[in-house]
Parts: sequence; structure tokens; C-alpha cells
Amino acid sequence: MTKGWAVFTDLDGTLLDHNTHDHTPALPALKRLRDLGIPVIPVSSKTLEELKHIREQLKLKGPAVAESGAVIAYPGEKTQIAPPGYYLLRDFLIDHRANPAFGTLGFGDMSLEEVMENTGLSRDDAKRAIKRLASEPFLWQGDSAGLITFRREVQAAKLRLLQGDRFMHLLADTDKGVAVRHVVNHLRSKGKSVTRTIALGDSDNDRDMLLTVDNPVIIRKHDDSHLSLAERPDAIITDQPGPAGWNQAINQLLDQYVDQGSVTHL
Ligand SMILES: [Mg+2]
Repeated sequence: MTKGWAVFTDLDGTLLDHNTHDHTPALPALKRLRDLGIPVIPVSSKTLEELKHIREQLKLKGPAVAESGAVIAYPGEKTQIAPPGYYLLRDFLIDHRANPAFGTLGFGDMSLEEVMENTGLSRDDAKRAIKRLASEPFLWQGDSAGLITFRREVQAAKLRLLQGDRFMHLLADTDKGVAVRHVVNHLRSKGKSVTRTIALGDSDNDRDMLLTVDNPVIIRKHDDSHLSLAERPDAIITDQPGPAGWNQAINQLLDQYVDQGSVTHL
């Protein structure tokens, strides 16, 4: 039985191929979920503008979690933005540059061309990536001792620092796990039943999200390594990387529970 299921998914390296951003290997599982009316909710460090674009391509409806959990959009409702919001985060970085040990270069310091160079994004994608509401990606330009002190400053200000592939992200004291719990509560408050939560992710910044759901799925990376989640020996670890692994895991879960359902009816 799959009524009340909700699927939360990271995008880069998970539903989208890490290098090509292709999602087509996941299409069979996406179609099965759509046919069963199970929502697929992206949970990403990308901006809402980037997610809107991707959701159109993937034909996803329902909520979307952007900027590592700091922004949540529910269809037809006001977007939820975790304080302090973008401009105070920018001020935090700029004010701290008064200390030469705290060198940072954020998206807000770069021209569009520099964002393109540093991220490898196309011009249109970069334009969507700079429309930030509640988190700032930045490159650390100080040394590692400075970073340790800077982390303490971030903590003291009740903010969060997340390490991405290349960029660090400064945001409210929230994460993908907090956001997933917020979405589940929100759906329930609107009278929707949520009976099983599934989350798929490939990186350390997906850990909080994976720990909070009923069925965590760890997507293997291209180099065959994978995130380890010692707390959850029940996690599915995919054989294949990216969207092919995504397809495998969702089909496995659907087969398992749909089959169990039909056995009960015999
Ligand atoms: Mg990822």
C-alpha cells in the first residue's frame, strides 16, 4: 500500500547526474510515483528559481525545499524563508572581513561571469542561482586555522555553515532534515496523511534528511564510493550512481510494499 507516501530527494548526484545533470534514467520510477499520486519533493541547496525550472522539466508538483532547507515553497502559499535572510547573511560575511583571517568570496561579491566561471553553470542557470533568499555560497580564502575560528563565530551567531562540493554555504540554523520535518508537519496540518517518508541523497549535507525519514536511500557516487550512515543499517545503498540508482531504489521500495499489499489480499 502506497497511500500517504512522500519522497524527498536531493538533486545533484542523486536525481540528476553529477556531471551531465541528466535525469532520464529515473523516468520509469518517476512515472510510477506520478501514477500512484506519490509526491516527489526536491530538497536541494539550489535556489527556488533553479528548482522551479527543474520541477517544470521533471513535471513535479507539490512543495519544494531550496537553499539547503532555508527556503520552503508550498504551491499557492507564501514562501517560507528562515531568518535572518539573505542580506543579513551578506552583512555577516562582509563585517567579518574586518579580520584579515576571515577572507570570503560569496556569490554576492561576484559578477555573473565570475559565478559562471566558478560554478560551471550556463548563463541562464547562473542567473537563477544568484536569486538567493536565505543562504550564501562562498569560497573560503583564509587558512584552515582561520576557518576553525570562523566556524565558532558562525555558531555564536546561531547560523549554520555547510560544506558543499566546492562552496561553503552560510544559512540560518537549519538543514535538510529540519525542512523535511516541517514539510511533513505542514502536509498533516492540511489534512493530508503521511504514512511513509522516503529520502534519497548522496552527500554529507543529505545526512540530516536521511536520518529523519522511514526509508533512507544512499545514492552511490560515480567513483563507486558512498555516504556511510552507521546509525541506519536499514538504509538502501544503490548499486548504480545518480538517477540510475534512484530508479533502482524507488522501484525496489514500490515492488516490496505493493507486493506485500497484494499478498495480504490473497
Ligand atoms: Mg547531492
